[in-house]
Amino acid sequence: MKLKITALALACGLYSAASAQDVNTISQAEVTRIVSTLSADDMQGRASFTPGIEKAAKFIQAEFQRIGLQPLPGEQSYLQNFSVYRITPDEKEAKLNGKKINPESMFAITEKEEVEWKHKGKQKVVTIGENDDFRTVMRDLNSSTEDVLVLVHPKHQEIFSRYQHYMGRGSVKQQLGENSSKVFILTDQLQAKKYKLEVENKVEQLQLTNVGGMIEGKRKDEFVVFSGHYDHIGIQPAIDGDSIANGADDDAAGTTAMMLLADYYKKQQQPERTILFVAFTAEEMGGFGSKYFSEQLNPDQIVAMFNIEMVGKPSKFGPNSAYLTGFERSDLGPLMQKRLEGTTYSIHPDPYPEQNLFYRSDNATLARLGVPAHTISSVQIDQDKTYHTVHDEISQLNMEHLTNMIRAIALASEGVVNGEDTPTRVDKTQVR
Ligand SMILES: [Zn+2]
Repeated sequence: MKLKITALALACGLYSAASAQDVNTISQAEVTRIVSTLSADDMQGRASFTPGIEKAAKFIQAEFQRIGLQPLPGEQSYLQNFSVYRITPDEKEAKLNGKKINPESMFAITEKEEVEWKHKGKQKVVTIGENDDFRTVMRDLNSSTEDVLVLVHPKHQEIFSRYQHYMGRGSVKQQLGENSSKVFILTDQLQAKKYKLEVENKVEQLQLTNVGGMIEGKRKDEFVVFSGHYDHIGIQPAIDGDSIANGADDDAAGTTAMMLLADYYKKQQQPERTILFVAFTAEEMGGFGSKYFSEQLNPDQIVAMFNIEMVGKPSKFGPNSAYLTGFERSDLGPLMQKRLEGTTYSIHPDPYPEQNLFYRSDNATLARLGVPAHTISSVQIDQDKTYHTVHDEISQLNMEHLTNMIRAIALASEGVVNGEDTPTRVDKTQVR
């Protein structure tokens, strides 16, 4: 049961009056300024590889400068640049048993710039016949390391088209792998006596950028991470003339929280542990930002990660309350709860385990390395109608709640930052 702070409790020294007062310096006006800037239309939905996200990076960089952070360990500036490969399908052609195949009836799953196959028995041929289950065959193919030509009966036209559409959007890879390729042809000829095919992809090396800063603690090699992702999904099909997915809650809110916490902790005396603040890129594309970030550090030196996602609306536990994903995987949650005892704030175990939220944000990458890395959120994900739509806008956020979330995180993280609390490690063998 929650208690309110009482004069008695304060007098007994149960709470440090200084910290309780300090979190109130986190101002709603400042929260509003930052989250409004990040989710403004001129950021164009902050999609990776667009000018909109570059603008957002510049803004975060300027704020880090103002706050007075140092660059992340090993970096010369706040911009942590790295590159990935974008693979976009281009030309394709095929002949099967002497008959030309319409490119509309083909798609490929491949990371290669060019796939050129002639019938020399090198590729395995798999057929998905009229009565086969498309998804079962796909699952088997997923785990196959061989090059496979897949002949699909026209009865599966609908699901074939769906995959084709999905693959047509291309993919992003950290590295160009030597993975096998699969080429799918929709045809009523379910035997490949003779074939010849060519699939071409456009491969571009493109830059992505995390924005990170640091407050060096007395312990230079013990890190506490605060993070949020600043990318979003960009421009979407218009609804009522609006096509910008502003991503106010997802995750301008979490990025704002991280920035306000940087400002808050910079104004305190030097922390015991070194604090890293990072705005991750490319979360929505598969977590490339957190992946690169994690590779620049020794995960054993990261004591905890407070990743913040979608904290702009009250949770199902009411205002001033949030939940922690993967609550049972370390004791970071109970440590935070202990710090919030007697305040109006509270943190709860993730009430939506079926949603797999633990795996749906940047904390998962570090958790896989054993770091007590969790996401703090307050979104009612099972009924939030604006999630990943053009309606995720600033007008939907509750600024008072968002401000209080940041104050709560400041209080809840204090023990970890000042070295009094050390959460247990996540069992990485239990993280898929
Ligand atoms: Zn998100």
